[in-house]
Amino acid sequence: MKSTTSPYIGRFAPSPSGNLHLGSLVTALGSYLQARSQNGKWLVRIDDIDPPREVAGASQRILTTLEHYGLYWDDHVLYQSQRHDAYREALEYLHQQGKSYYCTCSRHRIKELQGHYDGHCRHLQLPALDAAIRLKQTHPVYQFTDKIRGTVYTEANVAEEDVIIHRKDGLFAYNLVVVVDDHYQNVTEVVRGADLIPATLQQISLYHHLSLPIPRYAHLPLILNHDNNKLSKQNHATALPMTDPRPVICHALALLKQPPIAHWQDLSTHQLLEIATRQWQLAVIPSHDIIDKTYD
Ligand code: GLU
Ligand code: ZN
Repeated sequence: MKSTTSPYIGRFAPSPSGNLHLGSLVTALGSYLQARSQNGKWLVRIDDIDPPREVAGASQRILTTLEHYGLYWDDHVLYQSQRHDAYREALEYLHQQGKSYYCTCSRHRIKELQGHYDGHCRHLQLPALDAAIRLKQTHPVYQFTDKIRGTVYTEANVAEEDVIIHRKDGLFAYNLVVVVDDHYQNVTEVVRGADLIPATLQQISLYHHLSLPIPRYAHLPLILNHDNNKLSKQNHATALPMTDPRPVICHALALLKQPPIAHWQDLSTHQLLEIATRQWQLAVIPSHDIIDKTYD
């Protein structure tokens, strides 16, 4: 008989827009330890869906860095660049269900609306030429339960927006591809950075429109630098050092308020991660941003 509770599957899904930094390690480690502590699988997906933002060689460097830090993944790495057929199929499904429409509004017009689209093209029946595709929002999601942050709310105008699912320049939108892929990879729980909380509400809404089961969510704290800016690949945060990974892992664990690991100098990276897995507690993880000056 089929078990009713599916086995835990988590994932880390970096975009190859630069090198991994301390903030990425916190996210990678958090999702890894959460998966391992549930005896689950931990998958790695390369979100290479936006070629203009990609940096040559970044995908390989990301994977090499994960291995250097002892974060070995299960199964094979999935590349979003190989998944265009699946994204097209999802777009086709939404189109056939009458859940999407073409929009030719200019960036200038959207800017005048303070970034929140007003549904201008919803009923205009525009042709595909030079148009973006938007979701016809019929299932807005105003809140969700986060395993770290409890109930998270969004503003109505964010929840109700007809988001872009296929861009005018021909690229698939992040919100669409992440939902299609998390479903394809049978991901049961998404553990990722808090910068994606607004996207989560739109993604949960997309699950509803696609009639797919919704994973659980936990959002890890963002790591800010001395200027209070989020460490990000695009603002060239310092790459994770390729020297001894153990002190950096201990530092990331401390940022997540995990119990310290005694005598880590005597342990291999593998042993250190095993103990971190055993001690792992989601409940003590801060639900606010963290300023850290060590590796920025
Ligand atoms: N690829 C996205 C990023 O690097 C994260 C995707 C996700 O975790 O859902 O920001
Ligand atoms: Zn429009």
